[in-house]
Amino acid sequence: MTNCIFCKIPQNENDSRIISKFKYCYVIKDEYPVSKGHLLIIPFHHTENWFTTSKEVHLEIIDILVHMKAKLDIEYKPQGYNIGMNCGEAAGQTVMHLHVHLIPRYAGDMENPKGGVRGVIPSKQKY
Ligand code: AMP
Ligand code: ZN
Repeated sequence: MTNCIFCKIPQNENDSRIISKFKYCYVIKDEYPVSKGHLLIIPFHHTENWFTTSKEVHLEIIDILVHMKAKLDIEYKPQGYNIGMNCGEAAGQTVMHLHVHLIPRYAGDMENPKGGVRGVIPSKQKY
């Protein structure tokens, strides 16, 4: 896709934003991180979201999550993680090329974190 930022980034082999490359996916730091260490796992091929790609990509993403979590544990020592995907505009997706957010969480980084990803609809976060 010519106008897709996540297609373009890996076209430059030496792009310093890429912190790891795997068979199907690469990893970058989110440009506007929610927290220290916020990463994005992104397939090289253009595909809209989790539901439009293959099982091979799914399985590699799961392995990368485990691998990068171990690295983040060492580098930043977070106390928790959120793993997230926005699939479709109605769900808040802004870059229409699959990417999985790996977001380290730190005790006290927000006043009451209870409910976590339920916060996609802020009024429903606490239950
Ligand atoms: P969403 O589609 O809602 O999951 O959000 C897209 C995510 O990509 C946001 O967290 C942005 O901060 C991030 N983002 C957008 N452009 C770039 C970029 N050029 N490099 C790294 N992260 C980006
Ligand atoms: Zn793309």
